[in-house]
Amino acid sequence: MREPSAADATSVRYLLLVLGDQLDPDSALLAEADRGQDLIWMAESVEEATHVWSHQARIAVFLSAMRHYRDARREDGWSVRYHGDDRDPLAASATPVASLGQALRDDLAGLSVQAVRVVLPGDHRVLEQLRAACRDAGVALNLLDDTHFFDTPTGFAEWANGRRQIRLEYYYRHLRRRFAVLMDGDQPAGGQWNYDQDNRQSFGRDGPGALPAPIAFAPDAITRGVLHAVVERHGSHPGELDAFDWPVTPAQARAALADFIDQRLAGFGPWQDALWAGEPWLYHSRLSVALNLKLLSPQEAVAAAVDAWRDGRAELASVEGFVRQILGWREYVRGIYWSDMPGYLAHNALNATEPLPAFFWTGETDMACLADTVSQTLRYGYAHHIQRLMITGLYALLHGVDPHAVHRWYLAVYVDAVEWVEAPNTIGMSQFADGGRMASKPYCASGRYIQRMSNYCASCRYRPEQRTGPKACPFTTLYWDFLIRHADALAGNPRMRMQLRNLQRLDAEQQAAIRAAADAHRRAVAGASPEPAGQR
Ligand code: FAD
Ligand code: SF4
Repeated sequence: MREPSAADATSVRYLLLVLGDQLDPDSALLAEADRGQDLIWMAESVEEATHVWSHQARIAVFLSAMRHYRDARREDGWSVRYHGDDRDPLAASATPVASLGQALRDDLAGLSVQAVRVVLPGDHRVLEQLRAACRDAGVALNLLDDTHFFDTPTGFAEWANGRRQIRLEYYYRHLRRRFAVLMDGDQPAGGQWNYDQDNRQSFGRDGPGALPAPIAFAPDAITRGVLHAVVERHGSHPGELDAFDWPVTPAQARAALADFIDQRLAGFGPWQDALWAGEPWLYHSRLSVALNLKLLSPQEAVAAAVDAWRDGRAELASVEGFVRQILGWREYVRGIYWSDMPGYLAHNALNATEPLPAFFWTGETDMACLADTVSQTLRYGYAHHIQRLMITGLYALLHGVDPHAVHRWYLAVYVDAVEWVEAPNTIGMSQFADGGRMASKPYCASGRYIQRMSNYCASCRYRPEQRTGPKACPFTTLYWDFLIRHADALAGNPRMRMQLRNLQRLDAEQQAAIRAAADAHRRAVAGASPEPAGQR
């Protein structure tokens, strides 16, 4: 018979909520806690897997990492009340709870607790649920800072205060100075803040050549149990599980970082914007899921990259490019999210109202770039940044898809998707729905951009240089249609001047033909979405 533990007790000091994206054993939550008086609380929730139509691998990576965390903490002597794992002999309930808020409310009703403690969740919706549950139970909710970021939402708000525009570049420089990352005194190492010009290469005709295969983590018994549970519970959800090899423990996350630094960091900079059919990883790190679940600290990832430069294992341009993503973009989008929520999700500056085409859920389209990106997304729950921004995101922007539908898709299909990072990237950066709060101009381009940066067009039935006619590339048609539709709204934007000047070279008849071709394309891809109605 097992010994009674705090998990069985009815009176505890702190109930320590550990959410699926807060799996850092060194987080502030445990630093100030006591094994004898406090109880860790975790729950697998139906709502978290279904509030968007989540990719099966996304559900699996969270659940597997949670179960590994639970077992590791129990081994460390913590009491853990865990809901939802029928293979856990100590589980508080064998089936997943309906929602985190309801489960917490129910448990608080049977417990005497001084306070509930949680590190700031990554989703405003979850935070509101926890607040409501604690309020209903009359128990204080203590929100702790997430030390898994360099800055805090308050730090971002203080930096942004009084600025007319809050651009990434200046926030990034501010953080580089503040945390002395890649600095020589008060000057940027190497004399430049930015190596973007060196970091925009394509692979050219010959392609990327032999690429280093990233380290893979074969599912262990816990992960296999989770994969089985996901199929049972959510087998109708999009995506596959056959290729599941994501890191699910801090040790694996560190191994993934070391593998990236040794094998791919040197190529990261030059080719971070390049695309190649059938090559999902190229020189990308695959670290986002480990970072976002807090299995890996961003401070450690940045330090490892900087060390690689100091030791001569990677060029500064590559290292700066990588540091910019983590110390720059990752912190910046989080700052935007917490400054602007809950209103941010409702933005629709370009009044886009089209439904998301069904092929986003199936990959079945004759547009080669989209077929490759979406199929890869369904297989792995992963696409690299330029695929997300300049293939799926660009298409949705040009097509005029409702940004909320685009947001729900991105939140559903990527293993690394947590709302604080997904929403600003989708609604702000890729769809320009926030009217320019994040991006100084819409990321709009024609099929020629995709042709320049990839080999997709070579195998496509469409021609990127053609804007109308049977072989016209839909990206190119929709690009000109986008400029026609938004010319007035974008006229005051100096960064759009060149593109709008090119539009003026088209006469009324040419513009009418483009509008007609774009409408015909929209009609051609319209169709019933496989996404269940309740989720739309
Ligand atoms: P790498 O290319 O190796 O980059 C290194 C790290 O930098 C990433 O792991 C990530 O932590 C960080 N990073 C890079 N770009 C960004 C960015 N724009 N914003 C924040 N962090 C960044 N990233 C997510 O983590 N979750 C999401 O849900 C998400 N949704 C996105 C939606 C859209 C429309 C777009 C355009 C981008 C989105 N991104 C998201 C950002 C980026 O595409 C992913 O972080 C990246 O592709 C993850 O792969 P990687 O780890 O191989 O990244
Ligand atoms: Fe994509 Fe157009 Fe190129 Fe085809 S021609 S791969 S649709 S950009």
